[in-house]
Amino acid sequence: MYIVQIASECAPVIKAGGLGDVVYGLSRELEIRGHTVEIILPKYDCMRYDHIWGLHDAYKDLQVPWYGSEIHCSVYCGWVHGRLCFFIEPHSQDSFFDRGIYYGHNDDNMRFAFFSKAALQFLQQSGKRPDVIHCHDWQTGLVPVMLYEIYKWHGLGNVRVCYTIHNFKHQGIGGTDILQATGLNREDYYFEYDRLRDNFNPFVLNFMKGGIVYSNHVTTVSPHHAWEAHVGEFGYGLGHTLHMHQHKFSGVLNGIDYDVWNPEMDHYIPYQFNQDDLEQKALNQKALRDRLWLQHSDKPIIAYIGRLDDQKGVHLVHHAIYYALHRNAQFVLLGSPTEAGIASWFWHEKNFLNDNPDVHLELGFNEELSHLIYAGADMMIVPSNFEPCGLTQMIGLRYGTVPIVRGVGGLVNTVFDRDYDQTHPLEERNGYVFYQTDYQALESAMDRAIGLWYHYPEEFKALQIQGMNYDYSWNHPGQDYVEIYEHIRHK
Ligand code: ADP
Repeated sequence: MYIVQIASECAPVIKAGGLGDVVYGLSRELEIRGHTVEIILPKYDCMRYDHIWGLHDAYKDLQVPWYGSEIHCSVYCGWVHGRLCFFIEPHSQDSFFDRGIYYGHNDDNMRFAFFSKAALQFLQQSGKRPDVIHCHDWQTGLVPVMLYEIYKWHGLGNVRVCYTIHNFKHQGIGGTDILQATGLNREDYYFEYDRLRDNFNPFVLNFMKGGIVYSNHVTTVSPHHAWEAHVGEFGYGLGHTLHMHQHKFSGVLNGIDYDVWNPEMDHYIPYQFNQDDLEQKALNQKALRDRLWLQHSDKPIIAYIGRLDDQKGVHLVHHAIYYALHRNAQFVLLGSPTEAGIASWFWHEKNFLNDNPDVHLELGFNEELSHLIYAGADMMIVPSNFEPCGLTQMIGLRYGTVPIVRGVGGLVNTVFDRDYDQTHPLEERNGYVFYQTDYQALESAMDRAIGLWYHYPEEFKALQIQGMNYDYSWNHPGQDYVEIYEHIRHK
């Protein structure tokens, strides 16, 4: 099969979160399975050019219709760790992708509506005819809309679309200007409820809704989150739309890249290890303590790695620091704050705890340090408010770090409580799960984990090994996506 991914991120060249990891990891898996994959991305000024090999201009004369006129674009081509990527660069005063950051501008909806249009125009003009377009999140929600309303009549009639939603919270909205700019026009038609009209605000169009309505298949990134979005509050207003289209909606668990996250070959950690020599993990723990100026003592290390954001249950993360100290554990945090208020809160905590030899807070994004923490910690907490899939618990499991998670979204599909899980036998359980968002729920799960570490070390070790035995690579999800593509292709 010939698959084209259209996305706003692809790790490591463009990564703001898990979306980038998924676009890269899935593409790689599909290629391993013998399919042809190309990835179309915006050419941002701030992307990591050092991760692109052989960048050259591949297509100089792309004319993208926009507001009844045209914007001239160049398309560059290069390899990102073996994946063939096309980068679209528009030449206009809007400087859509020369803004120094990927997201966060007032005209983000226009920027990505343009990108979606340009990607389709590129396929059409260059004669590329993929079997399947796989597009992602609100940024590319208009791809299937424009494909079926415009480009189908210009040579792309046989192309099918799979649309993956990584985060329902950001849906992308716009008004009639979007219709005029993209050439969709026909206001009355698109403002109908069963097309793009937002389910709650009748005066705006919703990109993500368009993606759901017009795609041949829609996925979100875990089976449990598919259910939560469909029947619960996590669809952020799109539950009814998902219900109307439930026959083509499913959850496919993300994978993690087992070449990047492999304790046996990881060059960011000083001592490689596997489940047969966990003593090496203890040496990484020593290295972690040295690196972060923690005292060497016979206490477990509990870690948090992730964005510091409302979604991630930041109040519980904060509470976990002090509760770990109270329970005679050490705590390491590697977090990137997403808002000024959260940043100043955690900077304050960092200063306050500066002289405490049992805790270290590292604020910012640090890929290399994250590997050492995954390798050196005993446990990690993931107390999210909502979590479509979550990658950190899967990485933790791979490194023998026992996850303590809140039972939401993809965390439900990947972590099985050692004491209470009803679906897996004891020898297949891999962590601790709590459900409520109050402190007591978190504390009781932490108590159980810390208690096992102190009082039943052999059983704690068995739990670590059971977690390491899980396969959360792209192997299974890759197969799931191939089946979805085959299904929509032959419909
Ligand atoms: P998100 O909601 O941010 O996409 P995921 O759990 O799906 O959360 O993916 C987070 C990814 O980003 C993981 O690979 C994690 O290791 C990495 N990550 C998050 N925050 C940091 C940080 N501050 N430093 C280094 N890596 C980080």
